[in-house]
Amino acid sequence: MPLSESELQRYQRQLLVDGWNQDKLKSATVLIVGLGGLGGVSATYLTAAGVGHLKLLDSDIVELSNLNRQILYTTDDIGKSKATQAAKRLSALNPGIKIEAVGERITESNAIQLVSGSDIIIDGLDNHHDRLILNRVSYDLKIPFIYGAIDEWQGQVSFFNPPKTPCLACIMPEEKQTPKPIPVFGALPGTIGTLQATMALEYMMKGDVSLAGKLLIYYADSFEFETVSFEKNPRCPVCGK
Ligand SMILES: [Zn+2]
Repeated sequence: MPLSESELQRYQRQLLVDGWNQDKLKSATVLIVGLGGLGGVSATYLTAAGVGHLKLLDSDIVELSNLNRQILYTTDDIGKSKATQAAKRLSALNPGIKIEAVGERITESNAIQLVSGSDIIIDGLDNHHDRLILNRVSYDLKIPFIYGAIDEWQGQVSFFNPPKTPCLACIMPEEKQTPKPIPVFGALPGTIGTLQATMALEYMMKGDVSLAGKLLIYYADSFEFETVSFEKNPRCPVCGK
């Protein structure tokens, strides 16, 4: 389908980008799990870029203490469903794409059904337990998983696409007990969520991501980025032999 006159105008500046492929974005389905500080940012950029179908998964309601970082929401949204409010806000930004709000939390029993049909999974979660469920489904269904996490002054991202790459459980197989609440200022998930959106766009248009098999760590207190390569773990509980 050729782009309409309005799409040509809306996407005018990105269509000038070398290697850009709007058709591939338009035909893609992205699942964003967690619509907080990370997911709200990746969802915003993917909506603006014209990804054809976004599925937004979050069972939480908006709280006042979310608003220092969860920039999709306003003070008026307090007490309302994050998935629903996010879908409303994003549909206003770009009415030409399909946005689906799912007010559920990922569990062992619903994961396959919720993830099926997506081309990419974006991790906007705040706990490793649910991440490991997503990682397992990503491996089982062969759907790439874009990991992102933050803690105080540090954030990290990676792209897992097993069996071509290691999986999350190769490097972080255990459930960690994270102290609640995690210290966080809004600009950090802003940076990490933007990197996740960039990886998703790169994967949709090129079929690969140069960060696959590497962990990118951002130290916000020193403005340094570090890239750490890692290998598949033969004893990985998910993708090991
Ligand atoms: Zn693994």
